[in-house]
Amino acid sequence: MNTSSTQDWNALDDDAFRALIRSRFEADYPTHLRYTSRRLRWHENGEWYRHMSAMGWIAPAWPVAHGGMGLSPTKLLIFHEEQERWGIGRFQDHGILMVGPVLIRFGTDAQRERWLPHILSCEHIWAQGYSEPNAGSDLASLRTEARIEGDEFVITGQKIWTTLAQDATHMFVLARTDKQAKKQAGISFILVDLTSPGVRVRPIRDLAGHEEFNEVFFDHVRVPIDHLVGPLNAGWDVAKALLGFERIHIGSPKLPQYALGILAKLAQLRGCHTDPVFKARFNALRMDIEDHCDIYARFVEIVKRGEPLPDEVSVLKILATETFQRAADLILETAGPAAQLHGSVPIGDGLVDLLGPFYKAMPASIYGGSNEIQRNILAKNVLHL
Ligand SMILES: Cc1cc2nc3c(=O)[nH]c(=O)nc-3n(C[C@H](O)[C@H](O)[C@H](O)COP(=O)(O)OP(=O)(O)OC[C@H]3O[C@@H](n4cnc5c(N)ncnc54)[C@H](O)[C@@H]3O)c2cc1C
Repeated sequence: MNTSSTQDWNALDDDAFRALIRSRFEADYPTHLRYTSRRLRWHENGEWYRHMSAMGWIAPAWPVAHGGMGLSPTKLLIFHEEQERWGIGRFQDHGILMVGPVLIRFGTDAQRERWLPHILSCEHIWAQGYSEPNAGSDLASLRTEARIEGDEFVITGQKIWTTLAQDATHMFVLARTDKQAKKQAGISFILVDLTSPGVRVRPIRDLAGHEEFNEVFFDHVRVPIDHLVGPLNAGWDVAKALLGFERIHIGSPKLPQYALGILAKLAQLRGCHTDPVFKARFNALRMDIEDHCDIYARFVEIVKRGEPLPDEVSVLKILATETFQRAADLILETAGPAAQLHGSVPIGDGLVDLLGPFYKAMPASIYGGSNEIQRNILAKNVLHL
């Protein structure tokens, strides 16, 4: 049942809203998909998201007028906190998190009518086509080209590290539309149907044996010109506008807290919880995670007030990912020989994937702007060095 269109979520008291969301997640989300150590594929969690779509809960941040839940910043934080608390796997959500908000802000009425309903119904699954070989941190060096021929773009080039592109039906692509202009000035934001002739998606197998990333090749791919979002050559501004409110989620303390919980259980089981060296390292990590929680709470207050996040928010991503990596490393050290086991092993009263946090923590300091880039932002924009 679609409850969203009839319900004024923001009229609910925060605690009542939290209880309602929590009970629904706990009752409906498949237990075997909780806290997975890798990104789930669409064949694994697509059904859950179609369920969320049917309830009208698929787009919590979108305005009601566009089919979303229209949650206030506070309610939205509660929604995400409850998803994280219950270990709900993230799906291929670039359509919800990126394409929808971009179309709502920069698209035409015709584009919104055409694309938004397919995102809400989960018929269109989107991938993010930004990074290229030699254009990651320095994204503006991208070389994929979109040439205009009549009423079409002809796209040629290559993207890389494209998360779950093999499950996507569409991709939003940053492409160079003016080779003479200075770096950022000649880039456009274009929507591409991945079934178009000339598109080739090649999965990359990672250290854990999963195929989460892809290379995507474009060989003279023809795309109607009305798939351009925002003005021609203004794609950089469109892409930048996406770096707003979401920056708080990437700095959430939930993952390090989860890893610390595994570590505490494991240490009890292996009898090292009384070892002074282990205790010193564990407590140092625990206190750093607590400090992180306090800093996170300060930024949450800014979001609740509806104010834009300042550049200082970069500190959250650094703290979240580096404490997560320390916890993941300590889990492996503490596990001893069991750390070599692939998949879940019995720990205490449950099954735990000991290598899972390690695999998940490693890339976390790279995606969403690497930690070195976050440090550059802090150095330049906050400390004015
Ligand atoms: C899990 C994961 C999912 C991803 N999903 C997607 C996706 O769906 N779509 C997409 O487009 N991209 C995706 N990416 C790519 C991601 O955006 C890039 O990996 C990231 O921008 C870094 O670029 P790079 O890998 O080319 O490294 P580089 O930019 O080459 O950096 C290499 C190293 O040099 C450091 N470095 C670079 N420049 C500087 C500098 N100016 N100062 C100091 N240090 C510097 C970096 O911090 C890094 O340690 C994903 C990446 C990961 C890990």
